[in-house]
Amino acid sequence: MELPDYLPVSMLNAFAYCPRRFWIEFVNAEMEINAHVLEGQIKHERAHTSGIQHEGAEATARRVYVYSDQLRVTGFADLIEIEQGRVTPVEYKKGVLGKWLNDHFQLCAQALCLEERLASGGHLFADVQLPVAPIEFGFVFYFGSRRRERVELTDTLRAQTRECIAQMWTVLTENQMPAPLEKFAKCRECSLEPICLPREVRQLVG
Ligand code: SF4
Repeated sequence: MELPDYLPVSMLNAFAYCPRRFWIEFVNAEMEINAHVLEGQIKHERAHTSGIQHEGAEATARRVYVYSDQLRVTGFADLIEIEQGRVTPVEYKKGVLGKWLNDHFQLCAQALCLEERLASGGHLFADVQLPVAPIEFGFVFYFGSRRRERVELTDTLRAQTRECIAQMWTVLTENQMPAPLEKFAKCRECSLEPICLPREVRQLVG
């Protein structure tokens, strides 16, 4: 397989949930469009009108393109808030806060991209002065609960996110579709189960 130059940050979410899910979506380019997935796409599109709004020293920017040359990932941050010299990324998700950390990894990857752009002198917005400082936290907004969950961008989460991105590259380099998860708890909530057939595959390979 010819490796891409960069990977989408959104695929980190899939990989963190399950490496096989990442493979099915990214390499096989397959997606099961069920009601839940469709609902999420529509809500995301509504929240994704790009643009920047100023109010004094404060600003909000929607659908901001971000990338990291170090990690070789790229994507869009749903919303960035600039307030009191602080940059805060906000990611929108359908449903409610889940049991897994995949949304946190995606948000953290966006923050790592933002920090790298700011540290390299890159301007995210032509007319907004942004501080070059670590981003301490972000938010994931869940449409289902209409709540913002604050996510601390700790050293641990940062290390886990970097490790997850490195694993994505390893899986692609090895060009081997990951096996289904050994425990099926996540499979029950996975829209790709009809494509993945985790139980059947596990039975076949023993
Ligand atoms: S059904 Fe299970 S093993 Fe298959 S992609 Fe989804 S979470 Fe992964």
